[in-house]
Amino acid sequence: MKTQTELDKLLKGINRKSYPAYKSLQGVYQFDGYQLDICHVQGDPFAAPSKLSVYVKKEQAGFPEQYYSTGYKNTALCDHLTRLFGQAVKRYTLKAEGSGKSGLISISRCGQEILKRTAAVIKDGNVLIRFEAGFPAFGRTINAEGLREILFSYLPEIVSSSLYYKNLGQTKIKSVIELSEDQHVLRKELKKRKLAAFVANGAILPRESGVSQKPMKNAIPFKSPESMEVIIDLPYKGSIKGMGIPEGITLVAGGGYHGKSTLLKALEQGIYNHIAGDGREYVASLETAVKIRAEDGRAVSHVNISPFINNLPNGKDTTDFSTENASGSTSQAANVAEAVQAGADVLLIDEDTCATNFMDRDALMQEVISGKHEPITPFIMQARKMYEEHGISIIIVAGSSGSYFYIADKIIQMDNYNAYDITGKVKELLNRRENRCQSQEVPVPVNILFNGDKRVLKVKKADRKRGQVKIKQSGKDSFLIGKETVDIKYVEQIMDYEQTTTLSYCLKALIEQMEIKGADAVNETDSLLKQIQEKGLESLCPGAYLPVYLAQVRKQDILSCLNRYRGIC
Ligand code: ADP
Ligand code: MG
Repeated sequence: MKTQTELDKLLKGINRKSYPAYKSLQGVYQFDGYQLDICHVQGDPFAAPSKLSVYVKKEQAGFPEQYYSTGYKNTALCDHLTRLFGQAVKRYTLKAEGSGKSGLISISRCGQEILKRTAAVIKDGNVLIRFEAGFPAFGRTINAEGLREILFSYLPEIVSSSLYYKNLGQTKIKSVIELSEDQHVLRKELKKRKLAAFVANGAILPRESGVSQKPMKNAIPFKSPESMEVIIDLPYKGSIKGMGIPEGITLVAGGGYHGKSTLLKALEQGIYNHIAGDGREYVASLETAVKIRAEDGRAVSHVNISPFINNLPNGKDTTDFSTENASGSTSQAANVAEAVQAGADVLLIDEDTCATNFMDRDALMQEVISGKHEPITPFIMQARKMYEEHGISIIIVAGSSGSYFYIADKIIQMDNYNAYDITGKVKELLNRRENRCQSQEVPVPVNILFNGDKRVLKVKKADRKRGQVKIKQSGKDSFLIGKETVDIKYVEQIMDYEQTTTLSYCLKALIEQMEIKGADAVNETDSLLKQIQEKGLESLCPGAYLPVYLAQVRKQDILSCLNRYRGIC
């Protein structure tokens, strides 16, 4: 390892030279208190910034062992350090002058969720932070003095003010760790108490705007109906009360604009833990919960949608259904079947984004358009069995169709952003009417979706670069595999740009496997997740210079991406 004095010397030697001379800086240098690794140097001042990391040894970093020894606490601490480093960086970014990205210093921008990321890793108390910097230049002429400023004055400040425990707000860090413990316990309680989700009293569910995930100011705090209230004892926060949504079928009804979709959105995102101040710190749903929606135009490959769709006019086989351009109902049917195969325990459905004909067909329409002319078996006819025989809970927002009252175990009414339990009232009303939903015959029982996904999928040969499948990300909502765009705009539980990056790497790994011999997609995904568990997210891009910023993803989301990939043969 070289010393910082040697780096200083190298810098002096390349001042005013042409930009590529910066490459000679690559390497690891010992600074006071940490090691700086210049992992990859950008080719020119306009290219993606250079990749660096700092490594602070345990003795210097000084975090108490109980803050990082357990997985979820470690994730919370790393998340917090990434945020602190990000704040510290803001004071110094773009101070060094020059063209293009000269002087830029940046790290992962964390949102409201607490996610495991490659930006910060704590192992055995040693802290590794990956970040980026734009090496300064005037035109293409190296501004070594600018980089000297970054590496010798700004960075030591940033590191010591955000990564040395002795210099940090220790009360804040303690509260971050305690929150992570409370959230961990809350999630364990869900399973113990057979709840699909929990929303604490006082939670703030609506967000600031369509483009900001921050909490809405002056929102009406959530309050559970008394009949659904459960008390959960958390180790630090103490006992909290809130609405426990039991396993089973839950209907969220209510007038338009009364907060139904806002509640459902909070449950969709309740698969993640949220930071203090978010308003959803104590909102949790089972981690395998999957949002189901209609998605016209998506590709579907080899999915058995026959419990929902049969007798298509073109005679297409719906037990092994493929299309390049699904309709509203077929896309939603595929989304349900795929979620089941990906191990979802809860399906979350909002009428705002459903195909009406997939959800229900009213009695008059059933009379006029008789069975054999209608390929669709509405979801409502299969939902009870999905729960009773296969344990899949369903939470549905429906303000316009009353049929779901018949199959719901719990009915919540949202009224002026307040939740009411109207189950008793509605069931009484239904008792006075004839039950239209009495176990109607379905052409294909839903059970066949639960036989396990035994499909061996093959994928087309994807474009390669130096032997590797080519991937390119174009935002949070899509990426390219070779020349195929994978559009994941409607995989709504992906919250973060870096999750999309991870998903693109996961897909690349899966495709490389499946190209060779074809493979069982669910099995392959499981082994990929095992690899990530054991060797870290970093193992997804071996050989690639890190930092490639990656964030944790779920099995359900990896499979959602694979299922939308148009290269499956
Ligand atoms: P619905 O699905 O019942 O039509 P939404 O959930 O879309 O209603 O909510 C309608 C509007 O009310 C949204 O703009 C949302 O941000 C706002 N809103 C939701 N919940 C609250 C709340 N608790 N306090 C204040 N405003 C809210
Ligand atoms: Mg709505």
